[in-house]
Amino acid sequence: MKVAIVTGASKGIGRACAIKLAQDGMTVVVNYSRSDAEAEAVVEQIRAAGGEAMAYRADVSDPAQVKEMFRVVSKTYGQIDVLVNNAGIVRDEYLMMMNNDNLDKCLDLNVKGYFYCAQQAATKMFRRRQGVIINMSSVSSVMALAGQSVYSATKGAVNSMTQTMAKELAPYGIRVNAVAPGFIMTEMVEQLPEEKKEEYLKNIPMQRFGNTEEVAGLVSMLCSDACSYMTGQVLVLDGGLAL
Ligand code: NAP
Repeated sequence: MKVAIVTGASKGIGRACAIKLAQDGMTVVVNYSRSDAEAEAVVEQIRAAGGEAMAYRADVSDPAQVKEMFRVVSKTYGQIDVLVNNAGIVRDEYLMMMNNDNLDKCLDLNVKGYFYCAQQAATKMFRRRQGVIINMSSVSSVMALAGQSVYSATKGAVNSMTQTMAKELAPYGIRVNAVAPGFIMTEMVEQLPEEKKEEYLKNIPMQRFGNTEEVAGLVSMLCSDACSYMTGQVLVLDGGLAL
């Protein structure tokens, strides 16, 4: 049975990915940093459907916690086949208002966190000459949204990292791709002011926000043999927003 680690899987897109990969027959590690009850609920939902999952609390912006998580998962399940690098935060602020604390938090989780997890995953996958890494990017990496100079920079970094990692790891049977969602209905989008949501909606040709299952469906496909020759790509999933 394949083993997947999904970071930030207690809520939102990560939660949907964890449930979908479990439906695909994988054992899933539900990583999260604070929301114990929500993470346990995801595990219970997977087990109730006959799947196998464990919750693992670790702040993925901390390299020591990441290393320990991968050590424990490898020891428990013997292998790691899939990493979904998903845990991310948004701290929207206009350039002149942005403070260094939020700048550091975004860089630490959205860039360094992805790097720490990918590095650990690659070390484990390399030995077995197989594996899939999916990095959750954002449409903000390919189009400019006012107030997102830091967030978009982190997601641009995710895209570049995806390409370089893909090139380095391809000879070892490890594929690395990124998914760049547009506006998906999660806490991240729900917390936006109503007028902002309406403004964004006007610019989406499909005239609706996406849902988490739609992102999970693409992640599932990228993990499957249907995409066995695809690596280093950034797939935009945004209802046409960036067109
Ligand atoms: P969300 O609903 O806010 O969920 C974030 C998840 O990340 C939670 O499970 C949270 O768990 C976890 N998390 C936060 N900090 C963490 C840390 N330091 N270590 C480990 N886990 C941590 O977010 P989302 O909207 O699903 O977004 C998920 C990803 O998709 C992000 O990378 C985001 O940039 C990207 N994305 C989202 C959208 C969108 O419209 N929603 C669009 C484009 C891209 P705890 O509560 O336990 O901390």
